[in-house]
Amino acid sequence: MLTGLFRMHGLLVASHPWEVIVGTVTLTICMMSMNMFTGNDQICGWNFDCPKTEEQILSSDIIILTITRCIAIVYIYFQFQNLRQLGSKYILGIAGLFTIFSSFVFSTVVIHFLDKELTGLNEALPFFLLLIDLSKACALAKFALSSSSQDEVRDNIARGMSVLGPTFTLDALVECLVIGVGTMSGVRQLEIMCCFGCMSVLANYFVFMTFFPACVSLVLELSRDSQEGHPIWQLSHFSRVMEEEEDNKPNPVTQRVKMIMSLGLVMVHAHSRWIAEPFSINTTPGVPQVGMELDHLSPRRIEPERTLWHFYLTRMITMDIEQVICLALALLLAIKYIFFEQSEMESTLSLKNPITMSAPALTPRRPTETCCRKEPCPPQPLAPAQSVTVPATFIKAERDEVIRPLSAPAADLRPKSFFVAGDEEEGLKSETDQPSLPPKPRDLVECVAVLNDPELGARFLSDAEVMQLVNSKHIPAYKLEAIMEKPERGVAIRRQMISDKLPSPTALSTLPYTGYDYSKVMGTCCENVIGYIPVPVGVAGPLHLDGKQFQVPMATTEGCLVASTNRGCRAIALGGGANCRILADSMTRGPVVRLPSACQAAEVKGWLESTDGFQAVKEAFDNTSRFARLQKLLVGLAGRNLYIRFHSKTGDAMGMNMISKGTEQALSRLQQQFPELQVVAVSGNFCTDKKPAAINWIEGRGKSAVCEATIPAKVVREVLKTSTAALVEVNISKNLVGSAMAGSIGGFNAHAANLVAAIYIACGQDPAQSVGSSNCITLMEASGPTGEDLYITCTMPSIELGTVGGGTSLAPQQACLQMLGVQGACLDCPGDNARQLARVVCATVLAGELSLMAALAAGHLVKSHMIHNRSKVNLQETPGTCTRKAS
Ligand code: NAP
Repeated sequence: MLTGLFRMHGLLVASHPWEVIVGTVTLTICMMSMNMFTGNDQICGWNFDCPKTEEQILSSDIIILTITRCIAIVYIYFQFQNLRQLGSKYILGIAGLFTIFSSFVFSTVVIHFLDKELTGLNEALPFFLLLIDLSKACALAKFALSSSSQDEVRDNIARGMSVLGPTFTLDALVECLVIGVGTMSGVRQLEIMCCFGCMSVLANYFVFMTFFPACVSLVLELSRDSQEGHPIWQLSHFSRVMEEEEDNKPNPVTQRVKMIMSLGLVMVHAHSRWIAEPFSINTTPGVPQVGMELDHLSPRRIEPERTLWHFYLTRMITMDIEQVICLALALLLAIKYIFFEQSEMESTLSLKNPITMSAPALTPRRPTETCCRKEPCPPQPLAPAQSVTVPATFIKAERDEVIRPLSAPAADLRPKSFFVAGDEEEGLKSETDQPSLPPKPRDLVECVAVLNDPELGARFLSDAEVMQLVNSKHIPAYKLEAIMEKPERGVAIRRQMISDKLPSPTALSTLPYTGYDYSKVMGTCCENVIGYIPVPVGVAGPLHLDGKQFQVPMATTEGCLVASTNRGCRAIALGGGANCRILADSMTRGPVVRLPSACQAAEVKGWLESTDGFQAVKEAFDNTSRFARLQKLLVGLAGRNLYIRFHSKTGDAMGMNMISKGTEQALSRLQQQFPELQVVAVSGNFCTDKKPAAINWIEGRGKSAVCEATIPAKVVREVLKTSTAALVEVNISKNLVGSAMAGSIGGFNAHAANLVAAIYIACGQDPAQSVGSSNCITLMEASGPTGEDLYITCTMPSIELGTVGGGTSLAPQQACLQMLGVQGACLDCPGDNARQLARVVCATVLAGELSLMAALAAGHLVKSHMIHNRSKVNLQETPGTCTRKAS
């Protein structure tokens, strides 16, 4: 019940971060201003004379204080180092600093509000720093960082709160009681400090429970928006660390000890305050007597002789030796942290990261390996006992295997984040750390209890038990990745569950699934994941385009395609390069709405085409995104149905999600104007997305581009092995007349779709959009002084692509975008990266057209495909091929 309460509290705080932050700040300000009326707002400083300065401080005290300060600084430094282990040098550090600052401000205000003595603050500061435990904040942040969407952030903060909340509370209680003992010491300075310490602990607790989770939730939400629409925390090692760490789970023994300790301390306090009279006068924190007794030590308002800046400057210049020591130490550690620890961190992370060490395991593993839970064997469901035990020798061998290639010179060229960071090594570690599970599946009720227990969870269930829970609908099958302690385990279990239902139970054995960063897939790219398909990626180039050179990645299984494109690129380069221009940049969404009558539909059309109507709709549309900007509306009518084609800029995103969001808002605005308007569908095929349509060919969609090149006669002869006349002839007969004969729309080319699809798959584009994106007309004519040079153009009106969003967030696809220098958002001019990619697509199509047309003109096509595109495997012998037919 307690954990449930904390969970609810966490969810509330994480779902309403603004309210919590504003509430806390308001409370702080209120307490400050209420205190103003009490008049006790004196802090030693410029206009208050601090009596302490007149006190004779013993040199032994100074030494102790200096040592404490230094320890506090070193302690904070180590806390930062711990945060850095998470892979975040600054983000969490800054969050931690912010927390220290806010909880310091808050405690000061609370003490101030209660009219407490603040003259001891100076000495208490180092102690205050020692009380701050960033690991608590960090543990909660790790829960949040393990999320792949904002909704998950909230859920995970709630989960974190339910796990950590009771421990935080108990810790705060124990700390308070322990420090409270100091308030009974009878030593005035110690009493002040302990009093301050108690307040700080309580204030800290308040900040950790409210302000901090709210800030984390808000920061993650904001950073998601600002970083290409993808979570900035997609550094998967954040989540890995959390998943692997046991630290979050409170140790029941420690908990019990703490509880007994608190009980004892409560009794001590009760005894000393209410029973033992002599102590009660000036020891209780928060009791005014302390202040009264110390009245003669309160700061006294003075008429300053010096200006404020002068006062502080003099104070700074005339620093004591102990202050110099502390400052020097702080500076030294700060410099070490900022400038000298980056490389260490990188090497630590890369050591943990098998990406830099070994290539993905694409082949099925050895039989021994399939016996561990991490690598279930698809055909036979595994016994739970087997699924958690890994022979130590195997672990060692596997570890060696993983680490050995690290020293290989090519290590740097290996993909950096395709694997989950640290996956292999951490995976093995987690296997050894696995809780021991019962050999037989427990009954359903027990499994449900384990799953729902925030301190246990799926990690404490065997695969067989998880499957039992899925079959009984306690775990939705589609949520397996999210509910398991690691997404990969969810994928593995799903594979086990479906393998029995497949025609061949071994079907999945060659479909790889390990070592993939599923955190980037979840909630973005794919559901019900069972693995990934490796597609060969070739490179064509250099492609000389607009004075630059590009190496074009192409993912394809069609032999000849890359080689042929490469030849086209060579011909272009020898001809001096191609040039490309973007003619239009505008994504479209075409909803269908219905009016009671055709006349009313016509009236709506008229309003949308008026300046006022367009402006009203545009305002609603543009408000939904920083990048979507409505450019025009094309309105078509069919009876009382109205088709509105929204044209919008979408920055570097392909933009379908973005523009759909804008369209919805614009339609709401339209309904305000015409309440009788009924939205039939947000997509009425007037867009037109992923289907052949003349509207895209004529009106354009996404990026419209034109590319041209001149190929000298010599190059046509020597590289393309044909003549300009033959090429022009084939182009007219095939690409123009032939396509017209076929009734083609936008298909006036030889094979634009080949190039578009290959680049799209490599670069994380939506492959279904190769339908519209392949619209292209290829024109060829003879040119030059002798009329033997070839002038070729490709015009593509509807290239639908982006460099942020969708599959472009996956690491291998990002690598391909990086090859072209267009990965992510263009910060200087949003949209430039996507437009550059469209240029590359158009120019590569031109290269592909050149080469294929040349092969056709020279009659080489069939011959080269027989050599490069025919499987050498005897298909009749391939297991599983047409076995039913044969029988
Ligand atoms: P998205 O990831 O949904 O949206 C782009 C996000 O990136 C937005 O949040 C945008 O911010 C942000 N962003 C950051 N920097 C940007 C920049 N420089 N330029 C543009 N945006 C930037 O991507 P999308 O392109 O709209 O949608 C792509 C996905 O839609 C793909 O997965 C595709 O398969 C799928 N799709 C959807 C439909 C559909 O009907 N909904 C149809 C086809 C395909 P703001 O929040 O400020 O806009």
